[in-house]
Amino acid sequence: MKYDIIIVGGGVIGLSIAYYLKKESPSMKIAVYEAKYIGYGASTRNGSHIRVHFWSEPNVVFAIKSRKLMLSLGSETGWNPIPYIGGYLWLIYDEETYQTYRSTDKDIWKKYGVGVEFMDPSEVVEKYPYLNVGRLIAGVFGREDGKIHHDFVTYAYAHKFMEKKGIINEYTPVQKILIDGNRVKGVIVSGKTIEARKVVIAAGAWSKRIMKDIGIDLPLTPARKELSVLEPVKFFIKPLIIDMREDSRGLYVCQTPRGEVMGSVDYPEIRGTYEFNNTLKYLSTYAKAVTRLIPSLRKLRVLRVWSGDYNISIDHSHIMGRDEEWPEGLYVATGYSGHGFMMAPYTGYLMSKYILNDYIHRDMEPFLPNRFREGKLIKEVMVIG
Ligand SMILES: Cc1cc2nc3c(=O)[nH]c(=O)nc-3n(C[C@H](O)[C@H](O)[C@H](O)COP(=O)(O)OP(=O)(O)OC[C@H]3O[C@@H](n4cnc5c(N)ncnc54)[C@H](O)[C@@H]3O)c2cc1C
Repeated sequence: MKYDIIIVGGGVIGLSIAYYLKKESPSMKIAVYEAKYIGYGASTRNGSHIRVHFWSEPNVVFAIKSRKLMLSLGSETGWNPIPYIGGYLWLIYDEETYQTYRSTDKDIWKKYGVGVEFMDPSEVVEKYPYLNVGRLIAGVFGREDGKIHHDFVTYAYAHKFMEKKGIINEYTPVQKILIDGNRVKGVIVSGKTIEARKVVIAAGAWSKRIMKDIGIDLPLTPARKELSVLEPVKFFIKPLIIDMREDSRGLYVCQTPRGEVMGSVDYPEIRGTYEFNNTLKYLSTYAKAVTRLIPSLRKLRVLRVWSGDYNISIDHSHIMGRDEEWPEGLYVATGYSGHGFMMAPYTGYLMSKYILNDYIHRDMEPFLPNRFREGKLIKEVMVIG
């Protein structure tokens, strides 16, 4: 068996790359190898939020372009991902954070046409009377942000890739990347060699282990996060709300199109790749924080809790492309640090150009892996959840 390109990982990142590669070059022999089933990892376990508001310029630029591609996906693939652009509302409780929002708005967001609306506490209370805001100092509303259904995006990419004779092998974990001299030779699956000229590692939280096996140590830490839905009620929480009180532990909450109240807190964070199980600690911390912010949720029952991994890089920004010191033909797209779903479309688009034509777009350059050895970290700190 010989392929032009093998992609390791059938999550939204691997499938977006596969989709754009086939779109650009339909005759290429491309296979995706997935250890379990399509979307087994974070791609079907996430909050499905998309935003353009980051604190670093490279992420803002990347997210704006990814959002544009995401919103055109329905007409492009025929799969409607049910976009809902209800905005993000950050509730801010300290002066330093407030000033950071002010300066980022002035220096970056306005420059790219995604400025935010600043609200004083009385405006927040008037507009969102269901919130118990405590000693709020400001609300910040980002209108371009919202939600898109993650399953539709992941399966749209898979479906369109297969339609063009791309191959997806489920329940076939890649055991090892094969290197011959200074070139990638393929992968080992079920003890057999599958040859390929190029191999892309898009294995989410498992990428670090796969790369370490061939002597490349990416600065990544997987961290398990939990998320839950409460029973559905009439739609009233319009934006995604992020409560930045210290003791709210990164609480975020919204409603799904079905009316379920969905949200999370950043606690307890368990580092490493473990079973996808859940903890009472998470649920009790979340329940306390969410009912303080929206007391009317007190009587709602919990429908479901689940977990998935954030794959956190040292600068909270993704790693895409290749380092010229790596074996020829080896690429990565990983380390999305809790915002990989929204970055998937532009990742696939840019990675396909790079893999096929060796073209490094300027929007991709800051995310190349050599930034770590060259000390050019991105310094993104706006991670939600
Ligand atoms: C609770 C939670 C909420 C989130 N909320 C958001 C959000 O609102 N918005 C957002 O943009 N992002 C969010 N994220 C992050 C987002 O889900 C991820 O960044 C994104 O899904 C990463 O996609 P991926 O394809 O890189 O990884 P994954 O979806 O994890 O896919 C990796 C795949 O690789 C496979 N694999 C592993 N090892 C091997 C192997 N050896 N061989 C073959 N296959 C292998 C796995 O089985 C898996 O299917 C959230 C994540 C979590 C956990």
